[in-house]
Amino acid sequence: MAIYERSKPRTKLILSLFALCMIMPWAVLAQGSVSVTQTYGGVFSESRMNEWRSNPQNEFWAAVFSQRYGLAYDGRQVPGINPIPSEIGISWHYDVREELYQEASEIMDYYKRNGLLYEDPFLEDYLQRLLLDVCPGSMPPGRPGSLSIWVLRDSSPNAFALPNGTIVLNAGLISNLRTADELRAVIAHEVAHIFLDHSVEARIQEQLDAQAEARRVRRRAATAAILGSFAAGLAAYGGGAGIEDVALAAAYTGVVAGAVSVEYGLDRAKSALLEAGALHSQAQELQADMVSAEWAHFNGKPKALFIAALKRAEPARQSSASAADLSVYASHPPVSVRQSNILGQTLASSPGVTVRSVDSDALTGLDSLLALVDVEYDRENASLIELSAAISADVYGDYDTSIKLLTRLIQTGSPTASALVLASRVNRHMGHDDDFNQRSKTFIEEAESIVTVPRWDLLIEKAVLFSRIGRNDVARQALQELLEIDESDRPPTFTKEWIGMHMERLR
Ligand SMILES: [Zn+2]
Repeated sequence: MAIYERSKPRTKLILSLFALCMIMPWAVLAQGSVSVTQTYGGVFSESRMNEWRSNPQNEFWAAVFSQRYGLAYDGRQVPGINPIPSEIGISWHYDVREELYQEASEIMDYYKRNGLLYEDPFLEDYLQRLLLDVCPGSMPPGRPGSLSIWVLRDSSPNAFALPNGTIVLNAGLISNLRTADELRAVIAHEVAHIFLDHSVEARIQEQLDAQAEARRVRRRAATAAILGSFAAGLAAYGGGAGIEDVALAAAYTGVVAGAVSVEYGLDRAKSALLEAGALHSQAQELQADMVSAEWAHFNGKPKALFIAALKRAEPARQSSASAADLSVYASHPPVSVRQSNILGQTLASSPGVTVRSVDSDALTGLDSLLALVDVEYDRENASLIELSAAISADVYGDYDTSIKLLTRLIQTGSPTASALVLASRVNRHMGHDDDFNQRSKTFIEEAESIVTVPRWDLLIEKAVLFSRIGRNDVARQALQELLEIDESDRPPTFTKEWIGMHMERLR
């Protein structure tokens, strides 16, 4: 989901220039001298940095950033932020960033090329507004990159941030959450990784460790191989390009997304993300959690929002084991540890985490948050909830999750015909007694009441269901109508011969 268009070639050129210059604005700032020097996006000066920090829109993130880089700041303090390690120091590290950005754009290019990103202008605008709620200002002057959000066609509840400011949310994460504030809290966690420069920190520490560097080189080779074989795997599935129908496209791209994790090995898929700096250490995760909780507090919201979001996603993580293994969540500490962290309890097993006094606000109202259901949130995200339902059923064979999501759409009053057809099909897979059959029949009737032109997916589902319950006349009629749909508007599987054969059988 593009929120800001990135100007890649320009970025790369400018980054290269700065790798050469090796100017360290922070060193200048720390010494307190005033120095004006050419940098990314224009002229850098201490006054520009001060201007940025005093802009009320940047207040919260300027506090986070200033604390991280040990800059004097008379604004609020954000607990749980470790200062940037001394071996990294206060520098933009343009050379490291250029490498990380390159890898991040390889991952994003791969997603884009293979149709794995979900693009919808209304959803894009909705997510952009949420991102602006979280971070209404801008990145610090001189710092390359800008924030953007994209949605990945996968039903596992996952999110990650790439070091260039790209935040990737899985359809499954958005579908598991129940309120816009929960999603804002997740976005705040991802923005925290970016502002705290966690990827840069990890990469520099890796470079200081010779063995880790060798591992990185091997990982880089593996990543190139994965991206290559992903493309081959997609070709084998026919990609899904050119299929107009939403339901089928969702199902096909879902299959493709699933194939990526299943076919090519979870370790290797994970290493692609590691390569791009999207996997963080547990200590970094706990820091980002704290920042999210503090962000909520700063905005007059309950600190427990982020814990609520984690708890919403937890059942889905457990039910889709393979997805959870691939998920960046797999590198995250257990929810109980994260909850204790936000509460400020001592965490002996997590080195580098600041021990604080217990924060009794942190869990206030968690139960009431978890009882909240926001119908408006479901309406905004209806297309993603439907997509997640399709992938849950068709890739992971998780009918319980699928029907739960579809039921949510039906209760919200916003199911599309394709969602109702899917509901009939998934329900049919779950049982074949009278109750199940009757429920599917209701879904089909509802779908029929909202379509204005004949739909092949509805007609096929109708034919199959009525054939199952022994109403061959209705089933045949549906196939007859299917035959009347122009051949180019039907998927190639359903040829005239196929339809004719089944009409004969149902005679
Ligand atoms: Zn994280």
